[in-house]
Amino acid sequence: MPHPKPTGLPNLPLQDLIACHECDLLMRREPLAAGEKSCCPRCGYELAAHRHQWRRRCFALVLTALLLYIPANFLPIMHLTLLGQTRSDTLWTGVVGLYDSGMQGVAILVLLSSMVIPLLKLLCQLLVLLSLHFRIALRTGMLLYRSYHHLREWGMLEVYLIGILVSIVKLVDIADLSLGIGLACFVALLLTQIWLEMSMSPHQVWDALTEETGEPAR
Ligand SMILES: [Zn+2]
Repeated sequence: MPHPKPTGLPNLPLQDLIACHECDLLMRREPLAAGEKSCCPRCGYELAAHRHQWRRRCFALVLTALLLYIPANFLPIMHLTLLGQTRSDTLWTGVVGLYDSGMQGVAILVLLSSMVIPLLKLLCQLLVLLSLHFRIALRTGMLLYRSYHHLREWGMLEVYLIGILVSIVKLVDIADLSLGIGLACFVALLLTQIWLEMSMSPHQVWDALTEETGEPAR
């Protein structure tokens, strides 16, 4: 675990320093062995983690997430029977329904945060991994990884899932409701993305990119 050494820090090159994202404490960066992680001595925030086989695991997870993306968005989330009429709803028909009912702004926002941005995030991660694996277009890989960090704030699958669960709870009393395969794929996609974000340690990705290109990343 790195410890603050205020007296020697100003003379160290930038790549030997690390700052805590939570409390801004500046520390000397210590090399980590496989499986180790470092935490901020002041607030306990995880500063960096050195994960085993991260490239293979991330590659498998990003492909899994991309495979789940289509059924999660286009297969029925739920089947609703009310007054003798049955309808199946998907994420996509939800967006179209909002648009057709006059809420175009909300429909575009939902489309961006629940479908477009999660897909762009996955594609950025896939292209960064491919760039590192084949050692091609590494500067583009750095640009894509920076873009991924900006996109992270706009992908809101978790919020969408909570919305689905709330609507299920409200509808179950007034209509005959059954859950569709799309919901299972959506939950699996969400869990895969969380696992992927935990496995794709930013420090290891930046280190791999800077080692290959020889330029500072941050
Ligand atoms: Zn801290």
